[in-house]
Parts: sequence; C-alpha cells; structure tokens
Amino acid sequence: MKIACVGGGPAGLYFSLLLKLRQPQHEITIYERGAPGVTRGWGVVFWNDLLDQLRDADPESAAQIAQAAFPWSNEIVDVGGTQILHGVSQGYGMKRRLLLDILARRAEQAGVRIEYHHEVTSAAQLPDADLIVACDGVNSRLRAEASGIQTDEQPGTNKYIWLGTEKVFSTFTFPFVHTSSGWVWAHAYGVDAGSSTFIVECAQETWDGLGFAAMSQAECLAVLEKIFAAQLDGHQLIGTSPDGLNAQWVNFRTITNNRWYDGRVVLAGDAAHTTHFSVGSGTRLAIEDAIALAGRLQRDEEVPVALGAYERERRETILRTQLASRYSAQWFENVPRYIGLGPRQFSALMRRRRSPLMPRISPQLYYWSWPTSREPPFVDTLRRLAGPPAVKVYGWLRQLQSRAKN
Ligand SMILES: Cc1cc2nc3c(=O)[nH]c(=O)nc-3n(C[C@H](O)[C@H](O)[C@H](O)COP(=O)(O)OP(=O)(O)OC[C@H]3O[C@@H](n4cnc5c(N)ncnc54)[C@H](O)[C@@H]3O)c2cc1C
Repeated sequence: MKIACVGGGPAGLYFSLLLKLRQPQHEITIYERGAPGVTRGWGVVFWNDLLDQLRDADPESAAQIAQAAFPWSNEIVDVGGTQILHGVSQGYGMKRRLLLDILARRAEQAGVRIEYHHEVTSAAQLPDADLIVACDGVNSRLRAEASGIQTDEQPGTNKYIWLGTEKVFSTFTFPFVHTSSGWVWAHAYGVDAGSSTFIVECAQETWDGLGFAAMSQAECLAVLEKIFAAQLDGHQLIGTSPDGLNAQWVNFRTITNNRWYDGRVVLAGDAAHTTHFSVGSGTRLAIEDAIALAGRLQRDEEVPVALGAYERERRETILRTQLASRYSAQWFENVPRYIGLGPRQFSALMRRRRSPLMPRISPQLYYWSWPTSREPPFVDTLRRLAGPPAVKVYGWLRQLQSRAKN
C-alpha cells in the first residue's frame, strides 16, 4: 500500500515507524509542514505506563526515550506561598523537540520517508495514496474537509500560554498567585537538567484585567516573571522556542468526532481527540492511537475493516481519559470556587478534580464527605482533621506496634 501520513508529531511518527517495522512492504511518507527539529510547545510529562507501552512496541526507540527522560518526583501545590505536598508520585518530563527527534530518526532508519516543509491541506493533493492518516493535530485541515467525520469543538473559558524556563522544577509544582485581577497559576515540571515547562493559566477576566491582550511578548513575560518571582528564583521565562516559534495565549479546545474515518482518510492523535493539558495524556493517547492503528492494519486484510475496528477500540479505551480531561479542565475554570477554602483543602480537592460529583455539590460538603486521597478512609480523615504531622505520628505508632508483634 501507499500510505501518506500528514503531520510529523508523535502520532504520525510513531504510526509510520511501527507499521514500517512490521510490514516493510508498505511505502510510507510523512508530510510535515515544519522544518526538521521544529516544533510548537515546550515539554510534556508522562509516566511509566507510557514507557511500558513503548518498550512493548519498539524497544529501540523506547530505550532512547527512557534514557533521555527527565525524572521528577512528587507534586506540590503552592497557594500564595503556602506549600502543600499534593501528591506522592514519580513521572518524567521531556522536551517535545527531543521526543520528536528520536522518533523521526528511528522512523527514517526503518525506511519511512519524511518530507519536511510540505503542507497538505486537502486529500486531493495526495491522489496516489491508498490510505491517508491525518495526524495534523488539533486544527486538522484533512478532518475539516471530510464531511463524514463531523467534528464537535468545545472551547474552554480559560486562557493559557505554554512557556519554558531555565529554572529546573524537579517536583511537579502548581503555584497559584493572587493578583489585582484574580488568580493566575502555572503547571511547572522539569524537562531536562537545565529547563522546565511552565504553562501559565488564568480566567479570561483575569487575563483582560491584567491587560495581556495589548502587551508584546516581552512585556507579557516581564509581568509573568513578576507574578511568579518567588517560584522562579530569578530565572526568566522563555516564550520563544530554540526554533524561533513564539508562544501565544490561547483557549484550550476539546475536540471530539462522530466518526474517525471517512473514505481513505483516518484520524489519529489530536486530530481525533484532545485532552486538557492538566491530565498530561495527549501524547500518550497519540502514541496509543498509533500502536492500535498499526496493529489493526497489520491484522485485518481489508482496510475499511481495520479502520472500523481501530475506531471502536480507541473510542472505548479513551473514554475515561476524555471524561477526566473534561472535569479537570472545568475544575481549573472554577478555581475561585475552591481556593477560598484554604491551601490544604484546596489541594485535597484539586487531587480529586476529575470527579463528576464535585462541581454539583458544595466544595465543603464534598471535602468532608468523599475521600480526597487513595489512603485508607481512617488515614484520610485523620489527615483532614489533624493535618500531615498527625498522619506521620500515626505511621510511627503503627510501625512500633508491628515491631512489637514480631
Ligand atoms: C499546553 C499543553 C501542554 C501539554 N502537555 C502535555 C503533557 O504534559 N503530556 C502529554 O502527554 N500531552 C501533553 N499535551 C498534549 C500533546 O502535546 C498532544 O496531545 C500531542 O502532541 C498530540 O500529538 P499529534 O501527533 O496528534 O499532534 P501534534 O503534536 O500537534 O503534531 C501535529 C503535526 O502536524 C503538523 N501539521 C499540522 N498541519 C499540517 C498540514 N496541513 N500539513 C502538514 N503538516 C501539518 C504540525 O506541524 C505538527 O508537527 C499538551 C498540550 C498542550 C497544548
């Protein structure tokens, strides 16, 4: 088959790589509008579950990704200077550019052709392709022209900007800072030994009030550096990636589609679905789409049968993440509803932000009625009534008790 893949992001690169490795007889070309090594967006987070899937699918690229991944541990919520240990976890960050470099090199080694500086805005530009995999991201042009796909797009109400900084956050940090126009916060995590991602988010009214619309990028970064001075420790924010692309303030958009394929065009990655950055899953889902689509094409002889099976499989699998994403995005759109409760309660509610129930009842009632952590109910209640030191003392007593028993 002649397969054209439009878009050289994680979905397009990984799909092409896997299919070529497994079925080298296919002629696979990726059309990427950008230059080699150029990408929008700073760095992304992922967890061991993604690394495990990468190892199963292609151990060689997985080993390179695992080696280059920057480990961070634990999560901190900082509300106006009060820091709360928000979660005990271990994850990884990586610059998008590095991830794409690894995948592109590996795909080319496997025999995939990548044509950079080649924009494809219509399937009609690819008359010879038997199959077109639209991996052209959230603004997919191929999706827009495929009438059978029927896209739904829900814009979020918050503004965000995807920045970098040379301050290394080895703990995932969510600083919330109160300004004269309302709360502004960031999602900050290390992506290598010398830099971090720093996504800044706020409500539209706050954004209007702070006057970001009328500012140049340099002015905007200067204001944000002042707002987050305590967290940045004198480090600058970076709004321009090494390739010269400028970060922009935008609203997140939730994309869903009634169908994932139409004729010879099939969607994968952000073209098929988006999930809010606060659940850190978009890259994982794009990679999983690639694994599933390559697997189905390998298994089923008839392409339409493979595409149908791929759509059903992925639709079902991503449902939970899509719901989590929607509730998490809404939670961040309602920060003022929760932040007045004080840092400890706020952090506990943030941990449970994917709950469909929380927006429907009073935050206080939710806090006191539902577990806000994965701890046993007694420990959870103790933490809420008496705070983390009491939980520590309880832990020591349990240890002494079990030693005495042995
Ligand atoms: C602020 C922010 C933070 C995020 N953080 C995380 C995170 O921590 N963890 C995580 O897992 N995910 C994260 N994501 C989501 C993740 O970036 C995306 O889900 C993922 O990149 C999707 O991969 P993709 O290949 O589908 O699309 P993309 O990565 O968007 O790639 C699409 C490619 O197609 C190319 N293209 C577009 N149109 C055309 C055209 N007409 N012709 C040719 N080429 C074209 C583009 O240049 C681009 O290279 C974040 C997203 C945002 C916005």
